[in-house]
Amino acid sequence: MQPYTGLQCTQCHRFFPEEAPLGKCPKCQGLLDTLLDETALSHYSKRQLENDTRSMWKFHMFLPVKAGTIPVTAWEGGTPLRPVKSFPHLRNIRVKDETRNPTGTFKDRGASLAVTRLSQLRVRRLVLASEGNAGCSFALYSQMAGIRCHVYLPSDANNAKVELSKKLGAQVTKVKGTISDAGRHAAKVAEKTGAYNASTFVTPFRHDGKGTMALEICQQRGWESPDYIVYPVGGGVGLVGMWKMFKILYRLGWVRKRPRIIAVQPTGCAPVVDAYNKGRMEVAEWKSPNTIAKGLKIPKPVAGKWILKSLRESRGLALKVSDREIQKAMLNVAKRDGLMVEPSSAAAFAAVPQLYATGGIDTNDSVVVIATGSGLKTLEQFYRHETR
Ligand SMILES: *Cc1c(COP(=O)(O)O)cnc(C)c1O
Ligand SMILES: [Zn+2]
Repeated sequence: MQPYTGLQCTQCHRFFPEEAPLGKCPKCQGLLDTLLDETALSHYSKRQLENDTRSMWKFHMFLPVKAGTIPVTAWEGGTPLRPVKSFPHLRNIRVKDETRNPTGTFKDRGASLAVTRLSQLRVRRLVLASEGNAGCSFALYSQMAGIRCHVYLPSDANNAKVELSKKLGAQVTKVKGTISDAGRHAAKVAEKTGAYNASTFVTPFRHDGKGTMALEICQQRGWESPDYIVYPVGGGVGLVGMWKMFKILYRLGWVRKRPRIIAVQPTGCAPVVDAYNKGRMEVAEWKSPNTIAKGLKIPKPVAGKWILKSLRESRGLALKVSDREIQKAMLNVAKRDGLMVEPSSAAAFAAVPQLYATGGIDTNDSVVVIATGSGLKTLEQFYRHETR
């Protein structure tokens, strides 16, 4: 039996069995989460997962899909948990290499899941706001599923992300301003045309896709959670999704502990870090965001409360890194580990020395840094000369 039962509002807690393609809560406009029947889930065993499937769909029982689902998949997920040499002080540090996904980022996980579920619900047209990577991912899977996809990007989006989205069959429109402006635009278009809005947390079908990273990490570590996950926070999809799965694994008794999540943002746009460190319950809008990490340039994440709650539950830490530290980290991991990451991803790497120096992490602690996205789409941001 497939454990997925339906959707629940994170605000008014109403339950929806979900036969129509819902976005936000129809009653209160709160964000929806997917619900799993954990008794049904407990009938699965870790041993069943010891097979050769090398995609995130190995973990279909944790995902919001019905029994017998044929996924829209490009073999996303199943990425390596590899050692790195960039931090010689830390003996037990690994990188979850998400650059190896079909379009080079972990956005593919969320998009594969969302497009799979939405095509089951007979959605034919979707729109979304994206900084660029989600646009590429949704373009890829929408094309595979025969769904029309329209991406709204802020005007400073990386050219390769715009081009790749187009080559993969999406219609692309640039919107003046930040991703929040693009988000408002996409919402208006969705309302006017009846297209489904697949923007971050406007749809409930993306975060569980990124949550499969938590499942893979635990399995790759012999069903042991690491002490820390270092994660660059933009809209918080991965943070919320992973934390949810870590909690489920813990309740199932498959792992004995849960990690502390370390949220990293650039100094030029750090609304989550500031809100968390000030003990706030909601994230305030960041005025005039400015950073080379475009995937983290989200001045007001829609799921602010949910992100902060997840961080608090994990007894997490939140810290900022400068654009200069991000540039250095990009060069460092490329040189030492042969890993090309984009600035948004490099932010997590840039945070590690700081954590070690301030005593946040001990030499023997197990640390997993998520390498969220490949640098191949952002070559114009690879500043070789600056850091020599
Ligand atoms: C989207 C993105 C992020 C931020 O992810 P969220 O789940 O939205 O917090 C980080 N790095 C890269 C490369 C991204 O594309
Ligand atoms: Zn509600």
